[in-house]
Amino acid sequence: MDVATTTIQGLNFLPELLPPSTRVQINEKLRQEMLEQRETERSAQLQMILDVNPDLYFHLNLRGVITRFVNEKNQHHFLPVETVHQRHLHEIFPSSVASQFETALQELIQSQVPVTFEYALEITQAMRWFQARLLPYQPEETLVIIQDITQRKTAEIKLQHVHARLSEAQRQAHIGSWEWDTRENTLWWSEEIYRILGLGDLDFHPTTQTFMEMVHAEDRKLVTRVITNTLDNRLPFSFEHRIVRPQGEIRYVHLQAGFKPDATGESQLMYGTIQDITEKVEASRIAQEYRDELAHVSRLVVKGELIAGLSHELNQPLTAIANYCGAMKTLMEQGEDVSQLRDKIERQALRSGEIIHRLKAFTQKQPQQKFLFNIHDSIRSALQIINYQIRLKQIEVKTCFKHKFTTVYADRVQIEQVLVNLFKNAVEAMEHSPAPRTLTISTASTPDRMIQISVSDTGCGVPESFRSKLFTPFATSKQSGLGIGLSLSRSLIQAAEGKMWFLPNPRKGATFCIQLPACQKPLERPRTELNRHFRADAAHD
Ligand code: ADP
Repeated sequence: MDVATTTIQGLNFLPELLPPSTRVQINEKLRQEMLEQRETERSAQLQMILDVNPDLYFHLNLRGVITRFVNEKNQHHFLPVETVHQRHLHEIFPSSVASQFETALQELIQSQVPVTFEYALEITQAMRWFQARLLPYQPEETLVIIQDITQRKTAEIKLQHVHARLSEAQRQAHIGSWEWDTRENTLWWSEEIYRILGLGDLDFHPTTQTFMEMVHAEDRKLVTRVITNTLDNRLPFSFEHRIVRPQGEIRYVHLQAGFKPDATGESQLMYGTIQDITEKVEASRIAQEYRDELAHVSRLVVKGELIAGLSHELNQPLTAIANYCGAMKTLMEQGEDVSQLRDKIERQALRSGEIIHRLKAFTQKQPQQKFLFNIHDSIRSALQIINYQIRLKQIEVKTCFKHKFTTVYADRVQIEQVLVNLFKNAVEAMEHSPAPRTLTISTASTPDRMIQISVSDTGCGVPESFRSKLFTPFATSKQSGLGIGLSLSRSLIQAAEGKMWFLPNPRKGATFCIQLPACQKPLERPRTELNRHFRADAAHD
């Protein structure tokens, strides 16, 4: 419909009283004014469109035919056909896209509100994405603005792929990521965190409070302490704790965090990961149980081997006590002072008790229990257990302890078992060696805060062909040997986060070295089971 005709028809209500020439004049004036107003509106609309800087726009009539086509930027690749003027949408676009246009057109006709949609077209064998915006324009015409959004869409798709891959990687590794804006107190979790925490509802809005409620009650203090410390000092953290899922299931998680500095250099954004390590903790618990069991069996074997020596070891103080008692009786009959003899009897009795106590502690079966102790005390204890063999074979023991206190955090019984194994092997290796037979035990601290214990002998040494098998279970060169001593020892040392290795001596004999993490803290009581699993970084613990 023509604009001018519409306007003149609109003036037909004018009173008939006016002379026809005047009526024509007024009509003409009004028509001009309306045309001008329409033109102003249209240019404003066009200006608005041009402000958006469309790549292309066209007019579409209500039947879906293109009535005017403006392609100022000469973007021919926008349409799959060359000539579009007076052609129907279905002649230009593939039917799926044409239908999208038709649906949008209907929506616009009904609501008179702009409608936007996106579509994809394969043009010259490449997929391109466009955004179409339909605006009300003329009573019977719609303005369609097309924008090429291929770049944005490609980036979006790439991002979606990256997100999907990251999500899958997180799912497989049971690692979720999180971000916490400490200023706004807003928390974001990746999907995997919802899975780890057993929350089915991905729309659940996380808060620090809800997270703390899910932390195991016994670990809440520790988590609060570590996070507070981190906030105060802007330091990264890494530690393990437990969470309780809504259904009551307990899971072990490894929580890590760092700070992202913002433009001002202030770091308000804390970010990090949560990894579900329940299976790992469970597997290491089972492995530890097996190790404890094996260690116990091995100690019983050692006990069997040492029992003859130990009974001799016990015999000595008991014989001494019997002798002292005899002497005491005689002296008492003569009315002499027996206090010195009484003291000697007491010392021997205490020594017997100590030997029994050591052997009992050594062979008792108990789960791994780590606590702080002085490694030198353990070396002395282990030497006491093997003392009889040492004396029998006339072996000289040399100790070289660099520091007075050398504290380690481990299972003391297991470490002593390793030492007894090493001393026993050294003694056996020197069995047929000519004198002097020397067992040298030295300790020193390393720059990486480890305590190194070296056990060296002047025995037969390890043949080169056997060295690679030394730590292999059941590899033995002895007729009555089991071959589990060294492999078990290495496994116990590794469980204490240490390492163990062999060194051939330059002249004769062998040296076995152990490294255990050194502890700077004062000695304390045994730690609880919980502490074993919660190794907060030294900076925070
Ligand atoms: P076992 O003592 O029952 O054989 P081990 O695992 O303790 O089991 O030792 C394995 C083997 O390693 C021994 O049989 C021996 O051949 C060798 N070995 C261990 N310690 C020494 C040592 N100090 N000197 C020479 N050989 C050693």
